Amino acid sequence: MTREPLIAPNRRTETRHATPGNACNHFMKYGMTCDDFDRLRTRADGRCELCETPEEKTRRGTLVIDHFQGAGLFFVRGLICDRCNSVMSRHDRKAAWGPSSLPWAEKARAYHLASFERPTPEEFEQAEQYIASRRPYAVKDRILPKVKRPKVPHIRMDRPLKEIATKLRRNLGADEMAQLIELLTKPK
Ligand SMILES: [Zn+2]
Ligand SMILES: [Zn+2]
Repeated sequence: MTREPLIAPNRRTETRHATPGNACNHFMKYGMTCDDFDRLRTRADGRCELCETPEEKTRRGTLVIDHFQGAGLFFVRGLICDRCNSVMSRHDRKAAWGPSSLPWAEKARAYHLASFERPTPEEFEQAEQYIASRRPYAVKDRILPKVKRPKVPHIRMDRPLKEIATKLRRNLGADEMAQLIELLTKPK
């Protein structure tokens, strides 16, 4: 329960087993055996364990392993979607609740208490105290985890517009595309 992740999360391969001969991400990062991981997937049953969105309907089309870390504790809580992952960072007071996350506070709590790797009541209490001790969120307080940043896509402006558009489409989410279109079409 006190182990540290060995490598930074890689969301693409996080929620599946590795190809033969390679170590699984769930083991390298969370110390979960393949059996544990299969049990977790069975428990999630193809849905985010917090909002119950089917995996294929989530924004990334994949669920992520969520864990609690702090006060020397480290335990896997479950398999959730990206959106709920940010809800859980509010629960853990790594970020402030907002209008869209706050309605999930109660469910986030219940999900936390039903953590897959069941901490002892004492450990839960320790986690509680740790969460409660965190100062109200401010951007400058944010502890940035040491993760390898994904490569920033480079878009060359000296290429045909069609190619630029393809690259933008590939690298931006639907919301960002909409915002970009709005910015481009808005009179100055
Ligand atoms: Zn595995
Ligand atoms: Zn969710």
